[in-house]
Amino acid sequence: MSQVNRVVIAGAGIGGLSAALALAKQGVQAVVCEQASHLGEVGAGLQMSPNALKVLRKLGLESALRPFVFVPEHATIRDFKSGEYYLKVPLGEQAISRYDAPYWHVHRADLHHVLVEACLAEGVELVLNATVTHYVENAALDQVSVCLEDGRTFESDVLIGADGIRSKIREQMLGPESPTFMGQVAWRGVVPVSDLKMTIKPDACVWAGPGRHFVSYYLRGGEYVNFVAVEERNDWRSESWREEGDIDALRQAFSGWHPEVSGILASAQSTFLWALNGRDSLAIWHKGRAVLLGDACHPMLPFMAQGAAMAIEDAYILAQCLSNGTVADALIKYEDVRKPRTTNIQKMSKANAGLYHMQGGVFGKMKLKALQAASRLAPHVIQTKLDSVYGYDATK
Ligand SMILES: Cc1cc2nc3c(=O)[nH]c(=O)nc-3n(C[C@H](O)[C@H](O)[C@H](O)COP(=O)(O)OP(=O)(O)OC[C@H]3O[C@@H](n4cnc5c(N)ncnc54)[C@H](O)[C@@H]3O)c2cc1C
Repeated sequence: MSQVNRVVIAGAGIGGLSAALALAKQGVQAVVCEQASHLGEVGAGLQMSPNALKVLRKLGLESALRPFVFVPEHATIRDFKSGEYYLKVPLGEQAISRYDAPYWHVHRADLHHVLVEACLAEGVELVLNATVTHYVENAALDQVSVCLEDGRTFESDVLIGADGIRSKIREQMLGPESPTFMGQVAWRGVVPVSDLKMTIKPDACVWAGPGRHFVSYYLRGGEYVNFVAVEERNDWRSESWREEGDIDALRQAFSGWHPEVSGILASAQSTFLWALNGRDSLAIWHKGRAVLLGDACHPMLPFMAQGAAMAIEDAYILAQCLSNGTVADALIKYEDVRKPRTTNIQKMSKANAGLYHMQGGVFGKMKLKALQAASRLAPHVIQTKLDSVYGYDATK
């Protein structure tokens, strides 16, 4: 297969835009087809760990993002009721000295906006109202045609499916199959700090409790607090995977929790409820001239806060692979490099559900106590695990 001059990307999410920018910076013509009629992201926060920041820095976005971020002092796991610390890992300056990159909290809309601006500045073509339905390989021309719902087609050397967990590109490549409901739902919301009647710690905080957990952290220099409240459920009856949440039901589900949690929920005006879905590791990530990245390829529970970070790492490495050698070799190399890492992080994310939700009754609490003891007596054990995630540098 020939080399790559032009790439079409399905989906202008964080993964698709990161790929477009990385390719454009390599001199590849990038076209992004997005189904939405306007560009934007859901109103929620993202934890961006140093491994993601190393890529964003290499793409020239660090200084554009800096004015919008919040720098947490620690990553913590605390008891849902007493507030006792099971884990308290320093971030802030210590993250920079350990990983040579910061740990930031960003509003998804801010990261998305910075990516869009950078893509436009690099000459990426962003096509809206562009719902991709399927693709057609043209072996004779060494090309792939990307076909839209309205009949338009786009030719390219490679098609990247960055179209999220319900990816049409994945479906064509591997056959129809719904993602699996992971037995958890998440309420998400953002509260203006001016509405809060109390202060919360400037940390990335997981509140662990039986059958559920709550995540809270500041955004935009401390202007907002972001929350994610996760609850175990047997099923998800709604057709939609996201719907308006009932704020009273959310308050009820977390009633009796620590004052920082109940204080945030008391001030929250609205919330969205998400079904958390996943997939097992895919048998193949590419076929012919089509390739997957991000949630289209390896959706994960958000319990390591690494889904978007993995999409950003994928995007950078795929762009590097496509800039060297033939398409066939590039796609094999991309999958070889990325699959072990993303599969491992999918597993780590799943394992955290057990820890955060005190699964196993009294043993669940014992696991948190063991973590507390380990973080005091053998902090290097915890640090080594975190280093494997945050210390990774996709740009090397
Ligand atoms: C509650 C929660 C909290 C999270 N917190 C974090 C966190 O703190 N840190 C972190 O790193 N990750 C986090 N994640 C994970 C992260 O949100 C996702 O992994 C990430 O957004 C995936 O990006 P993506 O670009 O692959 O897909 P998406 O964000 O899903 O983007 C896909 C894009 O494709 C478009 N699209 C879909 N179908 C088509 C089509 N047929 N044609 C054209 N366009 C199409 C969509 O409109 C969308 O714009 C969290 C997730 C959840 C649910």
